[in-house]
Amino acid sequence: MRNGRKSLSVTLGALAICATVLSTAPQLAHADSDSLLLMYVDGKKTEWSAVERDGAAYVSFDTIRKLGGTVEPIQNGSQYSVKQGQNEVRFTAGQSTVSYGGFSERSELSTITADGSTLVPLEWVDELLGVRFLNDPLTGSVFVFRMDAGSRPIEVTVREPSPQPAPKPQTSIRVPVPSIPAAVSPLPAADSAHEETVGVEIVSKTWPVGGGSSHPVKLSDALPSLAAVTLAEDVLTIATTGAVTPQTFQLTSPNRLVIDLPEASVEPAADGTAEGSIAVAPDHPYISNIRYSLFNVEPSTVRIVIDLKRPIAHALESTDEGRKAIVRFDNKPFQVMIDAGHGGHDPGAISATGRYEKDVNLAVATKVQALLEKEDMIEPVMLRSGDGYTSPAERAEAANRTGVDLFVSIHANTAASASVRGTETYYWNDNSYRLAAIMHGNIVEAAQTADRKVKRERFVVIRETTMPSVLLELGFLTNIEDERRLFDEAVQQRIAEAIVESIKEYYNLQT
Ligand SMILES: [Zn+2]
Repeated sequence: MRNGRKSLSVTLGALAICATVLSTAPQLAHADSDSLLLMYVDGKKTEWSAVERDGAAYVSFDTIRKLGGTVEPIQNGSQYSVKQGQNEVRFTAGQSTVSYGGFSERSELSTITADGSTLVPLEWVDELLGVRFLNDPLTGSVFVFRMDAGSRPIEVTVREPSPQPAPKPQTSIRVPVPSIPAAVSPLPAADSAHEETVGVEIVSKTWPVGGGSSHPVKLSDALPSLAAVTLAEDVLTIATTGAVTPQTFQLTSPNRLVIDLPEASVEPAADGTAEGSIAVAPDHPYISNIRYSLFNVEPSTVRIVIDLKRPIAHALESTDEGRKAIVRFDNKPFQVMIDAGHGGHDPGAISATGRYEKDVNLAVATKVQALLEKEDMIEPVMLRSGDGYTSPAERAEAANRTGVDLFVSIHANTAASASVRGTETYYWNDNSYRLAAIMHGNIVEAAQTADRKVKRERFVVIRETTMPSVLLELGFLTNIEDERRLFDEAVQQRIAEAIVESIKEYYNLQT
């Protein structure tokens, strides 16, 4: 379960989409609440489409086939199988459970029906098809990027904001990537010919003036155009030749930060493309890729997409009279509240031999704390470090007030029957399911008792907390074998390691 979608190994390069030879017009009719999204592939408009409902993009079986997948009914037509190469996604029409390579996951979406056609959430099949996509209901478009296109040797192509009309000779400057930046470097000047950066590698070259006659886009000379995109430490600088009003929004699955520059343009390169990317060091802590394109013509809008390895807070400011947009990423550690259940006059469950649950909970919590203190990007916050009592409502309130990013409540279980044993993981809010699924898979492996699955229950500490939160029932203390294991320091250590690994997996932190 823990590997779920990640186990898909997408065959890059297997897709051969040629947008220009497609002539089949979309025939998708849709309900009133739906809207039709035009589909762009690698920045080129196609005649395919998607349907947007409640902010999500859905595609027909026909579009999946055009994107390189096969779709077949299986199980006497009760399920569908989408395949690309060796990879498979299965689902049942109208249901939200989706299976990736044999691992089932609960999705927040399900298939929808529009005028008799079954439509599939694009996010269910994007990895399978080897694409990333960006749903933009504002412009009625969905942008599909083939991942193999993104993995080409990357060069950033920017137009020098020089007033000289004559084309400059092509220049190419590679800035070596220091492994450990010594200090925050000053922001590079927008009109600097060489972008002095830390942590990224940029190739900068001049665009020939007057190129791009084959490009269908008519650019207004009056619009400011993109001059430079530079990443230095935790600061991204976007320079334009005139004032712009940038807008940002964040997307998940996968995590992206999108920066739109309305009323701006990108001048097309000689090959007619008005897009490019910036090389980011592979070991960058949170950014995997930065791309930009002219994605809308009327009104002309430049879009910069920052592919993130994990969610990260950011702040946007505009300087230099609107000619420079600065995005500062807040690369501070994630705060994780570790809640050792019960304490004080509340012993929790009483074990088969008369020992207390509160002691197991604190022993595991303390081991988690020790492990997390060695992590740069995770900061443990202990709800209790000693044997004090705090009510469940006060625990949830403390988590919300502190503003921690995650909440992990550690418990052990009790049952009327001494034969009941095993690990259960509880969540309540939808934003906690992924954490619960990752935690459960890892802890079941570490605790080596029975797998009693991920469950949804209204426990106060996971119902009232606003951040992703889970309640772990590590095992049953009323079972003599589970009790022996949970009081065993070596088992406690393995469980603590599983909890820490799960948090790192949740945040896509390198292990
Ligand atoms: Zn408990």
